Amino acid sequence: MDVRVPLFVRDGMDETVQAIWDAQTVVLACHVNPDGDALGSLLGLGLGLEKLGKTVTLLSADGVPVPYRFLPEWGRIATEAPKTESAFDLAIGLDAGEFARLGASTVALSQAKTLIDIDHHVTGKEFGQIKLIDAQTASTAELVFDVLNALGIELTREIAQCLLCGVLTDTGGFRFTNVQPRTMLVGAALIAAGASPTEVYESVYENKTLAAQKLLGRALASLSVTEDKKIAWAAVTQKDFLETHATDNDSDGIANAVRIVRGVEVAIFLRESDNGSFRVSLRAQPGWDVASVAAKFGGGGHKLAAGCTVAGPLDAAVSALLSHLSACD
Ligand code: 5GP
Ligand code: MN
Repeated sequence: MDVRVPLFVRDGMDETVQAIWDAQTVVLACHVNPDGDALGSLLGLGLGLEKLGKTVTLLSADGVPVPYRFLPEWGRIATEAPKTESAFDLAIGLDAGEFARLGASTVALSQAKTLIDIDHHVTGKEFGQIKLIDAQTASTAELVFDVLNALGIELTREIAQCLLCGVLTDTGGFRFTNVQPRTMLVGAALIAAGASPTEVYESVYENKTLAAQKLLGRALASLSVTEDKKIAWAAVTQKDFLETHATDNDSDGIANAVRIVRGVEVAIFLRESDNGSFRVSLRAQPGWDVASVAAKFGGGGHKLAAGCTVAGPLDAAVSALLSHLSACD
């Protein structure tokens, strides 16, 4: 089946395509604590560029979490660039609202002759000489889909599977408010090219460790709401991690369990780091802008899904977040 996705003219696309044509060695990197969009975009673009004969290095400073190890060629992703004598011709940062979000990969990327930022976050902290940024697009994978199209690269099943992982996970399985008609068309084109939504769902959403489910239990046991019940929060401490044998990756998806409580407009999920500070995930209903709240703490993200790090103890972190949230109500 041939699915046609209408072209979308975006600033930065022509420059991106030209820079790719001009380069031979390309280093690609995604953000720290990578999600399905980060890794799917990284691999999808990397495999595509290899079809053009480019020498591609794929970097994820925090590696590839287990749920994403179904992605074709995931083992090609390195945490550090090999020590090459010469710098890369071209570097591309993917799905990262700011350069620092690329973690240790920034070292290799800074040395490249040209740097491109491909992203769909709203941060005002774009980087690189070339910026392909569109906050209206649901996933970075969709931007990569457009780049591959513009380069005339045929979608293999492997590339399609990587990109579908990005599209599906950043839309919560086509449920979030970022879904547009075009998002579905891109999904359809990827499935037509051989991608399997079932494989993405099973690996990412139905592949929880026992520890993750126990950690979810701890988080839900801590669930609290403001008096008007519009803001809910849940937290897990280092003690919870130790007692359930959970790792940080096991906390994926807990923010969503807070978000889906009836009447809740803003969900806060806090997880304690080993230095006593809290990594915070914020999720909101339309009308809120939690990216601006996260920015107050040095974080960022999207209006309806953002993150930051807040100093402990827990009570102080929650109070600080609630006071910033009530200020933007
Ligand atoms: P999550 O809560 O899933 O970790 O992140 C939600 C969104 O906020 C994602 O788009 C993520 O990239 C962004 N985000 C999370 N933490 C940070 C942070 O510390 N800084 C910035 N700039 N963005 C973040
Ligand atoms: Mn993304």
